[in-house]
Amino acid sequence: MLTVVGSIAFDSVRTPFGERERMLGGSAIHFALAASFFTDVGVVGPVGDDFGDAELDVLRERGIATGDIERVEGGKTFFWRGHYEHDMNVAHTDDTQLNVFGEFVPKLSEASRSADAVFLGNIQPELQRGVRAQCDGARLVALDSMNLWIETAKDSLLGAIGEVDCLLLNDAELRMLTAEPNLARAARAAMEIGPGIVVAKRGEYGAVLFSPEGFFAIPGYLLEEVRDPTGAGDSFAGGFLGYLDGAEAHDGGERELRRAMAYGSVLASFNVEDFGTERVQRLTRGEIDERLAAFKRLTHFEEGD
Ligand code: AMP
Repeated sequence: MLTVVGSIAFDSVRTPFGERERMLGGSAIHFALAASFFTDVGVVGPVGDDFGDAELDVLRERGIATGDIERVEGGKTFFWRGHYEHDMNVAHTDDTQLNVFGEFVPKLSEASRSADAVFLGNIQPELQRGVRAQCDGARLVALDSMNLWIETAKDSLLGAIGEVDCLLLNDAELRMLTAEPNLARAARAAMEIGPGIVVAKRGEYGAVLFSPEGFFAIPGYLLEEVRDPTGAGDSFAGGFLGYLDGAEAHDGGERELRRAMAYGSVLASFNVEDFGTERVQRLTRGEIDERLAAFKRLTHFEEGD
């Protein structure tokens, strides 16, 4: 069982390929949908009166537990508005309304608390710490964050990072957090805060895993059609941790970490093919495995004689 806390959101997004108003989004949602292909997932977080059965059904249809999604009477769901220029690796934030997250105090059910794995998705670091403290039996706890919290709540964020096994951050944010321009050194500096595993996400270029064994890089899948990159990082994290928590993984060793990186990249590649959660909602396990095989061919080469 994998528990995730993070934003549960309505997103309004504009890209060079179209726009959408108030789509279902948020870090916890993108993560949970991706992870649900591999393991049992439960989402923790607050929503407002504006979050209805249609949104909950998207999660329920993928078997995701919604019992710890708390509806705040009279409250409004977290809202994010952003846009992308032609370089879709950079999200430009136009508006962030924390709404119900402003007052939220996480209270986990027994099932969520006893999860084997926990993902502390992007949200205020003190909330991440509140959830982490309740899941004290988890064998794998991972955390994601963003520039906003590095700028406005750095001490809390450093405290939160010190309490997890795995840190996932964009490469630029990893450099910002550690004030270290070189990515390999930035990852080493982040490991010194606590986590034994650091994953640097690099947008369309893929991701790099830093572990005690060294490093491993996986490319992004080169797609001819990318419509909306929102949630790619969380879908990556969902594929990565979902695989590690699922029945197919056993010891979490280096081989499995590398395979998890490939599943992360596969899920992220599907997520960006359409707006919001639209593509992942109609995704099948067969399509995932087909793309994993394509990834294997794409990254394979032989030494010369
Ligand atoms: P990413 O995977 O990095 O593209 O994350 C996209 C998601 O992050 C969107 O669905 C937003 O709702 C969410 N988001 C944007 N800003 C914040 C924030 N300050 N805190 C939490 N979630 C956010």
